Amino acid sequence: MDDVQKWSYRLKAKEMVDILNSKNFNAIYAEDAEDAKRIFLELVPEGASICVGGSVTLKQTGIIDEITSGRYNFYDRFHTASVAEMHDVYRESYKADFIVASSNAVTKEGQLVNIDCVGNRASQIAFGPKKAIVVAGVNKIVDTMEDGIKRARAIAPLNAKRIRHKTPCATEDNCNCQNCEGQPRMCNFIGIVDGCFHFPKRITVIMVAEELGY
Ligand code: SF4
Repeated sequence: MDDVQKWSYRLKAKEMVDILNSKNFNAIYAEDAEDAKRIFLELVPEGASICVGGSVTLKQTGIIDEITSGRYNFYDRFHTASVAEMHDVYRESYKADFIVASSNAVTKEGQLVNIDCVGNRASQIAFGPKKAIVVAGVNKIVDTMEDGIKRARAIAPLNAKRIRHKTPCATEDNCNCQNCEGQPRMCNFIGIVDGCFHFPKRITVIMVAEELGY
C-alpha cells in the first residue's frame, strides 16, 4: 500500500472511531492487522470463554489463531460430531464472556450491519455474551444503514463460496435469490446495532486502517 492510500485509510478509520464512540460503542483505532491483534490480547484475559462469528478478518489478523490456541475457553462449533451437537454449542455460547467477530458493514451513521445464515453472530453482538469485540477494516465502511444492508447482501455470495454452502449464488453463474430456499441460505437474518446505550461500551469495535475480509 502506498503512503497516500494509507493516509486516507487512517483518516477513515479515525473518523469512524469518533462516530462509533459518539453512539456509546467502545471504538478503538488500530494501525494494522498486527495492532488489531495486540488490542484483542489486551482486552481479553487468558481463560476467558469466547465464541466467534465466522470471519476472514479474524484469520487475517491472526486473532482466530490466538482464540484457538488453548489459552481460552473456546466454544468450538467447528469440530462437533453432528449438526445437533453444533447447535448445542451455538446455544451454550450465549453465556460466553466474549463474542468476537467482524461485521459486514460499519456505517457513518454509527451502525453495525450483519447478515447471517444461522443468526448467532447478528444476535450475539446484540445480546448474550458479556462483551462483544468487532474487528473491521476500512473496506467495511459505508455511508448509511441502507448502504450497509446492500453491502451485506452483496458479499453474501463470497461467504457462501468460502464456506462451501451450495446456494444459487455460490453454484450458478447467474445468481437467483428467488431459488434460494434451502438450509444453506446465507441471508436469513439481518442484524443492525444502532448504538450501545443500554449496555454502555459493551461492544468494542476495533477499526483497522487496512482492508480486511470481504
Ligand atoms: S439469498 Fe441465497 S442466493 Fe441470494 S445472496 Fe443470499 S445466499 Fe446467495
